[in-house]
Amino acid sequence: IEALNLQLWPPLGQPKDNTPPKEIKLFSDLPISKKTLEGLKTHNFITPTDIQRESLLYGLKGHDILGAAKTGSGKTLAFLIPILETLFKQRYTPSFGMAALIISPTRELAYQSFDVLKKIGKFHDLSFGLVTGGMLLKEEAKRMNSTNIVICTPGRLLQHFEQTPNFTADDLKILVLDEADKILHLGFADTMNAIIEALPKQRQTILFSATQTRSVKDLARLSLKKPIYVSVHEKA
Ligand code: ADP
Ligand code: MG
Repeated sequence: IEALNLQLWPPLGQPKDNTPPKEIKLFSDLPISKKTLEGLKTHNFITPTDIQRESLLYGLKGHDILGAAKTGSGKTLAFLIPILETLFKQRYTPSFGMAALIISPTRELAYQSFDVLKKIGKFHDLSFGLVTGGMLLKEEAKRMNSTNIVICTPGRLLQHFEQTPNFTADDLKILVLDEADKILHLGFADTMNAIIEALPKQRQTILFSATQTRSVKDLARLSLKKPIYVSVHEKA
């Protein structure tokens, strides 16, 4: 039998919050918009998982997050909800262009996140796009000017930085590095360094990884500022 072993609240040296995550029983207990709640409810997302409960208040407040949780724990909503809320609060519309970037290790994983985003984001007036090399670079580049939330693979994103005239991430508000250990395991360390160098320094960054390897720590150091650590372990 496996039991969940949650980290102490609040973790040492981290800011206190008035609402401890254990009092977040439902998504409706969170300070989020009706549009997002409606998207969640429509797809039967009612009760947050442990990683969602532990990280969402921080993510919603704009903190950088370094999250450790195994596959299947519900990390997708833990980063999609803060993205939707941030852009909603800033009254983003599609013509504003790219404001959030989610970097996934593979096309398949990028597509899975895109699918969830389309579902829970459908009541928002925001645009979402996949940038994984599924179409011509030029076509992708054209669409990106009117895409608020871009889900991409590292190689293809760097290709845009290097080859697409006028491609810029200057208005980026949130960066998500999903499955960072897998991204690095696939050999994208240099690509990630180049991407992070090309992004504006003022932004929120959320990094999720199932394992905390040396190279994940290096990437975390490079990309995060005073991150909140969130981990949901399993105990045998
Ligand atoms: P991870 O990225 O950590 O591997 P996912 O975000 O892909 O996990 O979620 C794993 C599964 O759990 C998915 O099928 C997803 O629909 C489901 N899920 C995630 N969060 C919730 C929730 N709050 N309530 C019910 N199901 C959820
Ligand atoms: Mg995932």
